[in-house]
Amino acid sequence: MNERACRRHIVLLGVGHTNAHIVRMWAMQPLPDTDLTCVSDRSVATYSGLLPAVLAGQLPPQAMEIDLVRLCAAAGARLITDRATGLDRGRQLLQMADHPPVRYDVLSIGIGSVPSPIETTADHVPLIAIKPMATFLTRLTDAVRQISDRSRPLQIAVVGGGAAGVEIAACLPGRLNKLTNQPFEITVVTRSRTLLPDGLPSTAARVRRFLQSQNHRILTETNVVRIDQRGICLDPDGHLPADLIIQATTAAAPPLLSKLCLPRDEQGFLLTDHTLRTTAGDPVFAVGDTGSIRGCSVPKAGVYAVRQGPVLWNNLQRCLDGQPLQRYRPQPSFLRLLNLGDGTAVGQWKGFSFQGRQTMRLKQFIDRRFMERYQKLPDTMTMPDDIPCRGCGCKLPADSLKIGLGSAFSGPEDAVVLPQSQQRPDQPGHTTDSDDVLVSTDFFALPLPDFWLSGRIAALHAVSDLDASGARPFAAEAIVVLPEGDEATQQDMLRDLLSGARGELDRMGAELIGGHTITGPRPEAGFTVFGRPLGRQRIRKQGMRPGDRLFLTKPLGSGILLAAFMRGQCPHDSYECLLASMLRPGGAAAAIAVDCGVTAGTDVTGFGLLGHLQEMLTDDVAVDLQHDAIPLLPGTQAMLEKGIRSTLLPANRRFLTGVRMDRGLCPDLFLDPQTCGGLLLAVPNTVADSFSHRMQAAGMMAAEIGTVTAADEVPWRIRIR
Ligand SMILES: Cc1cc2nc3c(=O)[nH]c(=O)nc-3n(C[C@H](O)[C@H](O)[C@H](O)COP(=O)(O)OP(=O)(O)OC[C@H]3O[C@@H](n4cnc5c(N)ncnc54)[C@H](O)[C@@H]3O)c2cc1C
Repeated sequence: MNERACRRHIVLLGVGHTNAHIVRMWAMQPLPDTDLTCVSDRSVATYSGLLPAVLAGQLPPQAMEIDLVRLCAAAGARLITDRATGLDRGRQLLQMADHPPVRYDVLSIGIGSVPSPIETTADHVPLIAIKPMATFLTRLTDAVRQISDRSRPLQIAVVGGGAAGVEIAACLPGRLNKLTNQPFEITVVTRSRTLLPDGLPSTAARVRRFLQSQNHRILTETNVVRIDQRGICLDPDGHLPADLIIQATTAAAPPLLSKLCLPRDEQGFLLTDHTLRTTAGDPVFAVGDTGSIRGCSVPKAGVYAVRQGPVLWNNLQRCLDGQPLQRYRPQPSFLRLLNLGDGTAVGQWKGFSFQGRQTMRLKQFIDRRFMERYQKLPDTMTMPDDIPCRGCGCKLPADSLKIGLGSAFSGPEDAVVLPQSQQRPDQPGHTTDSDDVLVSTDFFALPLPDFWLSGRIAALHAVSDLDASGARPFAAEAIVVLPEGDEATQQDMLRDLLSGARGELDRMGAELIGGHTITGPRPEAGFTVFGRPLGRQRIRKQGMRPGDRLFLTKPLGSGILLAAFMRGQCPHDSYECLLASMLRPGGAAAAIAVDCGVTAGTDVTGFGLLGHLQEMLTDDVAVDLQHDAIPLLPGTQAMLEKGIRSTLLPANRRFLTGVRMDRGLCPDLFLDPQTCGGLLLAVPNTVADSFSHRMQAAGMMAAEIGTVTAADEVPWRIRIR
């Protein structure tokens, strides 16, 4: 993560075949006083060259994925997973669907292409576009399941006879045979006179022979007018019945390009000169399928996009430094290799076409070599194991806190009652008036390089102390440390951070009323939050009674996954689950907990499940936890097995006493510091079922993880079995 507020900003919109090269170069040669931001609508990029192999069942889906979370983290680039919606060219801002605008000094747009649209008047004939490729297999699977009840062979049409269409048609049977027992018939429909109209006739003939040998029908010079309830309407009056239609039509410009106010060609792609820079003269480049070089016809193919990478890398730097740009010279022809799905491929190079297993081996070699660049991150991209953790992992250890605070230690509660607001003495068992004001402060080193997300997380994390006390926030004060460096960048960082936080506070009905900001060696943020009890009685940390049942409202693992993220090791799917969990507010769970009359509760944060559970214990109770009932974020166990731990873990271990674990169980999971962790609630047995049902009905987790017993009946304080 960049620890400075850099002066210059390179922004990549879309991390496809060309822009991915820049991320890789960044890992090896980051530019001074410059940061790199990658904006992608997904946390994975898909390598189209391997989609047919995955479809045919030759490779698992992960084989075609570039994990952008890992790649960007390892390269020290900021990943913003969001959809771009427009461009403010004057102020050099990329506008986003959810995030605040992203400032650029130089921008490279590579959002690919989309299949050209087909008019449809039917809503129940499944039409599946090959893009976005990342979701193609899931959409195909869902669609095939929906039509698998027919009592006749399924009619599948592939619209498009170019390279993508024929590869999909050739490899589709492999997938269909796995998805359904139904027989099927595949028809390829193309407007052109032949398949592969931009290839050699001999290549097209080989592909045609192969498809026909598989009993596929081929309809050439057939124009699709629209899709209706029964299938495909053909020009002029024909009709092709179809249960499922795959749209593999010519590459068309993504609709976003029309909103950028940049010059475009007749098809709507961004017009560039030979340097890949858009012709308007802005510091904006358009690469891969997205760009069209003026006066030069380059096919929309991944091989060209890949070759643009090194030129783009040079030109981004030259553009920043005000130097003349390098020309990109497209190769006059390219090696075309088409996977036929049966272990062979058809190839075409210059005037020759060829076919067979050797050709497939050549394709596999090229694809593997490309993917290894992004999937096997080189040593220069792996991080040391001892980088200090962020989020709640940078909390002071519990024993240091106790010693350091001494008599200033205010007691065990998550939030304290503001003395002047207190209507009656705040003693255990005493009813707290709903006019009392509760206060809590929390702050940490920002866990993610995305300041907007970090602001949201910091606000939710601070409010979680109020949730745990059964209170709702009404006001907050911010504490912010911005990294040293460029002032304009600091302003952007502060704006992003506070806009993320304010969004969460607004949703909770709380106002950001003030705060304080300084500069320092690393970005940090937090909030002092003020709240009022949701009910007549607030939730206290202590007060569990024998017979109570213990519930946890979020899975554990955020400390381990954040540590993995910082080391460039957190897989994108785990990262998405981590974000979803951290960004889930605790207020609704707290309201149900208060309503059900929980006897005690806290939020699981820096000291981990066991550390915070220990704070809930009084002399008269002990707790029995069921190991297998404790929910974990996906990927946590795998990261633990890789040896990844939060840096706070050893201190959390020190703090723990009186815990007995069954042989073979690892305590590290239960001591993992949680950022925006769940509530840990002790619920009386009489209302526990109702609590659980209400949580479930509201779509929230309430994992029953253990029970409370009388301390004098057992020889331990906490038992995990
Ligand atoms: C089935 C199939 C097989 C193919 N096989 C080959 C082949 O073997 N050889 C070959 O040369 N070409 C092949 N192609 C063509 C090739 O896929 C494209 O030419 C290539 O993907 C273009 O690369 P790109 O970087 O421009 O775009 P992409 O690789 O499509 O990357 C664009 C990225 O931008 C992201 N994005 C899109 N919109 C937004 C937005 N609004 N905000 C943020 N991010 C966004 C997308 O998620 C995506 O990750 C094939 C195409 C298909 C469909």
